[in-house]
Amino acid sequence: MSHFLSEEQELMRKNIREFVETEVKPKAMVIDKTGEFPLDLFKRAGELGLIGICVSEEYGGLGQQVSMENVVMEEVAKELPALAVVIDAHLLGMRAIENYGTDEQKQKYLPRAATGETVLALNWTESAGSTNYPEFTSMGKWDGDDLVLDCTKIFITNSHVADVNVVQGMVDRKMEVALVEKGTPGLETGDIYHKLGLHGSYTGTVRFNNVRVTKDKIMAVKPGLSPARETLCFLNMAAIALGISEGAFEKTKQYVLTRTRFGKPLGSFQVVANHIAKMATKIELMRSLTYDAARRFEEGRCDIMLNFMAKAYSSEECIKITNQCIQLHGGVGYTEDTGIARYMRDAKVTTIGELPTDIHYDFIAILQGMPIKTTVFPYSKDIC
Ligand SMILES: Cc1cc2nc3c(=O)[nH]c(=O)nc-3n(C[C@H](O)[C@H](O)[C@H](O)COP(=O)(O)OP(=O)(O)OC[C@H]3O[C@@H](n4cnc5c(N)ncnc54)[C@H](O)[C@@H]3O)c2cc1C
Repeated sequence: MSHFLSEEQELMRKNIREFVETEVKPKAMVIDKTGEFPLDLFKRAGELGLIGICVSEEYGGLGQQVSMENVVMEEVAKELPALAVVIDAHLLGMRAIENYGTDEQKQKYLPRAATGETVLALNWTESAGSTNYPEFTSMGKWDGDDLVLDCTKIFITNSHVADVNVVQGMVDRKMEVALVEKGTPGLETGDIYHKLGLHGSYTGTVRFNNVRVTKDKIMAVKPGLSPARETLCFLNMAAIALGISEGAFEKTKQYVLTRTRFGKPLGSFQVVANHIAKMATKIELMRSLTYDAARRFEEGRCDIMLNFMAKAYSSEECIKITNQCIQLHGGVGYTEDTGIARYMRDAKVTTIGELPTDIHYDFIAILQGMPIKTTVFPYSKDIC
């Protein structure tokens, strides 16, 4: 429950929660163990309108406010963070099409993506890193109106299941975005990484081997796109961190109330109870930062610094909380059988994905007037 959401939004949260409880939760431990991509759950979330929840109705979505996207991330991450990240990567692809696509491109790609019929991948990261894009090599060259892609993208979520690759990078030192459909000649996928956590989400390399992209599949990066909109993606990762923390915390709360030592529940030991109280306080702060930032965007008074703060704070605390939850479980917490250990493994991505926490703190420091020159600040500094 968040005091930043309306009654109607909280009601929608209840329905999302029901989907997660009845359909996602029963499969979560198995997916973590087998690493199988949860395509059926992705499709089901699409059918229920959760994937296109913020896509405008004109393009097949439910046209809800951005807070609802955060609610989807939060609720799904409580039980299966890997599915939340799969959906998040897909949402990033959809947002690029919404932001940069022509009306024809939106009509062609968004309705099927919004309902989960197609899976998208956002291909941005290159071996030069993900933040210092001025160091990216040209991802291809122009041949008349066509763009011929010759590059490798790394760490791409949904790499091996994507129906449409949204490929973003530099061409002749200018940012370009291209759409490459599955089966296009020259499109190849490499290995799927064996990861610490997020088992079930596929992350891999994608090679574009002289892939010819025609004009109708090239989108223009519009200069002056609102930084408020560009930085919304960070709230999704903040919401995932919030959901992971809540998932681990709720299970731990139950555990300390039922596990007894010296004839008393663990929760009656003051030290244990204080850990519970501190975690609850941190979770409330994460929730407030994330949903306050989203609501400000919705009300047209976005402060992008808050988006960076929500992402940085939530992800760092998520790691501490999931660690503490294992601690309070003792030995069984260290095994995979309780389902608590996986939260800590999954938590780690939140300080790395969608830019490392260090970069977010750099952004905040730059907005605080610090003369940092080692991080590119790609947004307008206006509070919007
Ligand atoms: C599971 C997973 C899924 C991903 N999915 C996608 C995806 O779908 N699409 C996509 O394009 N990318 C994806 N990524 C890539 C991700 O966005 C990058 O890994 C991340 O942004 C960090 O970039 P890097 O790996 O290049 O780290 P590097 O740039 O090599 O940085 C390594 C570390 O150095 C520090 N550092 C780097 N630069 C600075 C600086 N300027 N100032 C201070 N400290 C600094 C940070 O601590 C950072 O964590 C994914 C990554 C993972 C792990």
